[in-house]
Amino acid sequence: MSIVKNIIAGGLSVLISAAVLTSLSSCSQKEAVSVTPETKVWAWMSGKTTTPDRRWRRSFRKASRAGINAVLLECHGGYPEILGDSSSFRDSAAIRIIRSALPHAERYGIELHAWIWTINRTEKNLRKAHSEWYQVNALGESCADIKLYNREHYRWLCPSRKETEEYLRNRVAELAEIRGLAGVHLDFIRYPDAILPYGLHESRGVFQDKVYPRWDFCYCEVCRDAFRERTGTDPLELEDPTSCEAWMQYRWDALTNVANALGKEIRSHGKIASAAVFASPEESKKLVRQDWANFRNFDVLFPMIYHRFYNWPDEMVGTATRQGVRALERNDNPASLCSGLFVGHVPKQRISEFFDDARDNGSTGICLFSLEKIDEKWGYWRALRKAIRRFRE
Ligand SMILES: [Zn+2]
Repeated sequence: MSIVKNIIAGGLSVLISAAVLTSLSSCSQKEAVSVTPETKVWAWMSGKTTTPDRRWRRSFRKASRAGINAVLLECHGGYPEILGDSSSFRDSAAIRIIRSALPHAERYGIELHAWIWTINRTEKNLRKAHSEWYQVNALGESCADIKLYNREHYRWLCPSRKETEEYLRNRVAELAEIRGLAGVHLDFIRYPDAILPYGLHESRGVFQDKVYPRWDFCYCEVCRDAFRERTGTDPLELEDPTSCEAWMQYRWDALTNVANALGKEIRSHGKIASAAVFASPEESKKLVRQDWANFRNFDVLFPMIYHRFYNWPDEMVGTATRQGVRALERNDNPASLCSGLFVGHVPKQRISEFFDDARDNGSTGICLFSLEKIDEKWGYWRALRKAIRRFRE
């Protein structure tokens, strides 16, 4: 473990202690003081501007009682509930959601992070004002115009455009400056799926034995020009774009540059920068052109090891964790890796087994998707509470 990583882990520890101090009224001191970055438990949760106070109270109380320390609260899920006009893209809905949740999170000693969709931006005002910022596939179709995978929300900004970076930096900054918020969490910080996770092909009605042009992005003018300038080749003329290392690298780097700028912005406000990434580093590069082991300026990266969506056996949770940790080490990346587990793929009788598997393979803490999924499963809260206690013994 590098020195930098230790410093960051120390920083997280300090924050946990602060959260713990405020939570002593709601959970026992013995339980609280045993939390370290290694045994920190996170969970994703969604929020709306219409979420009533009683729902915030209930969710944070349940999370706190179970031993969850930090919540990644979805405040921008693609469709903002309040739209500004094209002169102000300020995400007032996201800000309102965070502000209304914060006092409740604080009351129960939960560290709160603002979770936003990043490259995938569905806001209609933006699509209308700047449709040219959106990604284009190898057939020349813009995802501002077509419903990719028949999903209305699949609208993705081109990472090569400086305007994209500036727009997203502003969205991140307006959240990161909220007092009391612990961090900003970036989701959908990737390209659209060149290949969907294998377990989803049947339900989405697609056949993807390789990368096909309609799902291969970004061939917009800016990207084509930049690549042509660098290599003398128009990527549209490549016979097999996926096998062209330089073209793949160009796209990985374009995304990594945006991620790095956003991580830097979050940290400049003194907040924890984190991102949700695909399950394993190599699969991520292939499926969604996301080279996350090279993302810089992040404190925590959360690979979403939702293994059954990939038709993976249970032991792949540990394997993917190990692959991620090793890739970070190989790239001298000081970010911590915290494995994200899909509650629906983790039977309540076996929660501890999955937790141990992730930790034994190098995960720093555990993250669960999601509080809502836990709520849906009878007896899961009780089983989770026991598993978290055991995790900290
Ligand atoms: Zn582009």
